[in-house]
Amino acid sequence: MPDLRKDPITGRWVIISTDRAKRPNDFVRQRVEIKNKGICPFCPGNEEKTPTEILQYGRESGAANTPGWRVRVVANKFPALGIEGNLNRQAEGMFDKMNGIGAHEVIIETPDHNASLATLPPKRIEDVLWTFRDRILDLKKDRRFKYILIFKNHGEAAGASLEHAHSQLIALPIIPIYVTEELEGAKQFYIYKERCVFCDIIRQETETGIRVVAENEDFLTLAPYAPRFPFETWILPKQHESGFENSSSHMFENLAKAVKNLLTKADRVLDNPPYNLVIHSSPVQDPNNDHYHWHIEFMPKLTKTAGFEWGTGFYINPTPPEEAAKFLREASVEDTLPATVG
Ligand SMILES: [Zn+2]
Ligand SMILES: [Zn+2]
Ligand SMILES: [Zn+2]
Repeated sequence: MPDLRKDPITGRWVIISTDRAKRPNDFVRQRVEIKNKGICPFCPGNEEKTPTEILQYGRESGAANTPGWRVRVVANKFPALGIEGNLNRQAEGMFDKMNGIGAHEVIIETPDHNASLATLPPKRIEDVLWTFRDRILDLKKDRRFKYILIFKNHGEAAGASLEHAHSQLIALPIIPIYVTEELEGAKQFYIYKERCVFCDIIRQETETGIRVVAENEDFLTLAPYAPRFPFETWILPKQHESGFENSSSHMFENLAKAVKNLLTKADRVLDNPPYNLVIHSSPVQDPNNDHYHWHIEFMPKLTKTAGFEWGTGFYINPTPPEEAAKFLREASVEDTLPATVG
């Protein structure tokens, strides 16, 4: 008999197959491979092919848009939203509209075309996390923006149009619906129990251990109780914190390790899968509260969303999180950790 499970934050129900659970080898998937075809606008030497850089780490001297950087942030060449102008909210009869104002930036994670976030040394992953923070702090000053989402599409099947390792940032004039669902659910839980639902999850999952994937001093990596997708995994700070950008340098160091650990394990178990990764943090105008707890959601692309999901908002997940967590927990990462950090 399959399980119907309810996510304690959003109240969303999922169907988990328990009988014929799919194991890693049962998924037909597109392995992410670097093909090196054509000219890559994100490679050093091609800086003039991107819009002017907004931020870079590594280049001590020399002009903007030249090589020598470790991480580089540029505006998206084909932005989903435009940065200039005002929102101009208006009605169209009973309908609402506003101008498509927002920021859309690309974080080029490494100059090395053949690297991936998983293969970068922890120090370099930390650089990427610091650019996220720097860009969030800068964009927060713009009062038009209500939410800043950082996300990553890895592999063509997960929506990446360029194979060179990169993440994206979108600043939005509205709070997105999925985040609103989490915020509202977390607030309801807090009103009822006077505790953060995420902190409660961390406490219980640490106690039972069956859905825990990994742990370090500051972060817990786990398979959620009611995951939408097979091998969906979250990384949460152990101490309550609502905004990603409030993290200390100590935390970024341990977050880089946690991210590397999870991505390496996923590459091992699922053979370099395409994936999406998102950072869910509190809205920019409410960065410190007791009910919301920032986190990373990692979703490997192993199944397709079809009619039933689109029609109901229910997801059918063929792999119980307890099994996914066990595969990831037991995957060794030791021999992939670099001996030296450059
Ligand atoms: Zn490249
Ligand atoms: Zn919390
Ligand atoms: Zn979330």
